Amino acid sequence: MPRRHRQALPPYEPEPAAPALCALCGRPLAGVVNKHHLLPISQGGAGTQTVLMHKICHDKIHSILSEAELRRHYQTPEALRAHPELDAFIRWVAKRPPEFYDRTRRAKR
Ligand SMILES: [Zn+2]
Ligand SMILES: [Zn+2]
Repeated sequence: MPRRHRQALPPYEPEPAAPALCALCGRPLAGVVNKHHLLPISQGGAGTQTVLMHKICHDKIHSILSEAELRRHYQTPEALRAHPELDAFIRWVAKRPPEFYDRTRRAKR
C-alpha cells in the first residue's frame, strides 16, 4: 500500500491586532497601562484627548512636570518626548521589557 503523505494544513491563526504603542516611549503596551490626559483634568482637560502609556512612563511624566507645565508646553506626545529628562528616560526604559513596572511590583510581594 503506497504511503501517502497527508499534509496537514497549518492551524488557522487570525491576524494579530497591531499592539497598541505607548505614547511616550513607543514600545508595545504591556503590564500596567495608564491613560494620560494631554491636557490635565485639573487644567480643564476633563473629557479631552487621552493617550495610553505604561504606568512607569506616566509616573515619570508627572514626577517631572507640573500640571500647569503640561498645559502650557506639553499637550502633545511629541512635546513630551522632546523634554530632555523624558528623552533620557525613554532611552533608559527602552532596554527594559514592556511590562517592567509590573514585574517589579510582583517581585516585591
Ligand atoms: Zn512607555
Ligand atoms: Zn497623566
